[in-house]
Amino acid sequence: MSSSTKRYDVAIIGGGILGTATAMALTRQRRVSLVVLEAEAELAAHQTGHNSGVIHSGLYYKPGSLKALNCTTGRELLYRFCAEHGIAHERCGKLVVATEARELPALDELERRGHANGLHGIRRLRAEELHDYEPAVAGIAGLHVPDTGIVDYPHVTRTFAQLARQEDADVRTGARVHGVRRMPDGLVVETSGGAIECRSLVNCAGLQSDRVARLCGVEPGLRIIPFRGEYYELTPASHSLVRNLIYPVPDPTFPFLGVHFTRMIHGGVEAGPNAVLAWKREGYSHADVSPGDMAELLRFPGFWRMAGRFWKTGMHEMHRSFSKRAFVAALRKLIPTLRMDDVTRAGAGVRAQAVEPDGLLVDDFRIVEAERMVHLLNAPSPGATASISIGQTIADIAARNFGLPAS
Ligand SMILES: Cc1cc2nc3c(=O)[nH]c(=O)nc-3n(C[C@H](O)[C@H](O)[C@H](O)COP(=O)(O)OP(=O)(O)OC[C@H]3O[C@@H](n4cnc5c(N)ncnc54)[C@H](O)[C@@H]3O)c2cc1C
Repeated sequence: MSSSTKRYDVAIIGGGILGTATAMALTRQRRVSLVVLEAEAELAAHQTGHNSGVIHSGLYYKPGSLKALNCTTGRELLYRFCAEHGIAHERCGKLVVATEARELPALDELERRGHANGLHGIRRLRAEELHDYEPAVAGIAGLHVPDTGIVDYPHVTRTFAQLARQEDADVRTGARVHGVRRMPDGLVVETSGGAIECRSLVNCAGLQSDRVARLCGVEPGLRIIPFRGEYYELTPASHSLVRNLIYPVPDPTFPFLGVHFTRMIHGGVEAGPNAVLAWKREGYSHADVSPGDMAELLRFPGFWRMAGRFWKTGMHEMHRSFSKRAFVAALRKLIPTLRMDDVTRAGAGVRAQAVEPDGLLVDDFRIVEAERMVHLLNAPSPGATASISIGQTIADIAARNFGLPAS
């Protein structure tokens, strides 16, 4: 390696909430020279900047899973972090509403998981009690979950990055990684902004994390399949229909939560997101199609096995994606007085969902270790809520595997 260029101990690929959380954790606790490499012109440009802005409580996740542990720990760390750094947030609570008798067993299971995951103050509600929290809602039973909140995740991400910079980390935007070469004593990472040399590497590339793993010579054994989540927003005149957050009981066979109402931290109320297959990894609209991404998807046996399992749900989601009437019908199950002209189309986000070759959707967070490398290969929701905890976990693995000295 050339002696003139700066050589970093760690390069982190991806300037979303998880790459920057890892950078903050590493620079706080270790004496390291570190660089974050972000492809786009700004941080939080993809999943982190297009999500629902919800601080999840930990209600949904299998007790003992990485999601349950990192969400419940991360949630409290995040509330404390936002308070310390003046980031807008609110612990406003949410309502999960069952609208049909067949949803009651799943509601029971959520209540059980909530208790098993240590949530405080969950309250089971009868139909007539739902109105104490959300007057416009109709349902047959519900759960009130006080630990859920709302926040501005791009602001959190910029603050993580700023704290890492204060500890001398470099944060480079416009630096897309397109190659990684192993050298006898480290790695050379080729980026659109030039090559950098490092001893070790962390991959937090979100929608591109499987491809980045392959660039690094690591076969991840899974594929990222992009699922777009489209939102509507309530018109200002109808904001009063929603006080805080209103969710349906999710389909337990599907990893997404169902379209819901979310009050946003800077005002306004969003409705959504749905979950439609995207034909481009960063495809935010119907018109966004990448022939390369599409061909890669169609060649992946796991895609066809997944499609075989979920084709009915997929068709339904696709219909709802094109039909405002169908979208509003789903929302009306929760708020029957909602009218077509109470909502207008808003933005979209794309979820990075890892899928196994047998077509199974990877449910839990997945971190894979390789020589001089850590790869974060599945970090869907509640990844943003859990960010401080996941960042700490990756930093601990990196410190152990890369032999980084304590500061
Ligand atoms: C629609 C939607 C709603 C969600 N709602 C919530 C919610 O309410 N609460 C919650 O907790 N979680 C939510 N999530 C999940 C949450 O947003 C993610 O778990 C989290 O943002 C993942 O962060 P990340 O840093 O891994 O990914 P990202 O934010 O996608 O960051 C990855 C970064 O890597 C960069 N990158 C990719 N390839 C390269 C390369 N080759 N070189 C350099 N950089 C590269 C990208 O540009 C990107 O900025 C939601 C997600 C979506 C999509």
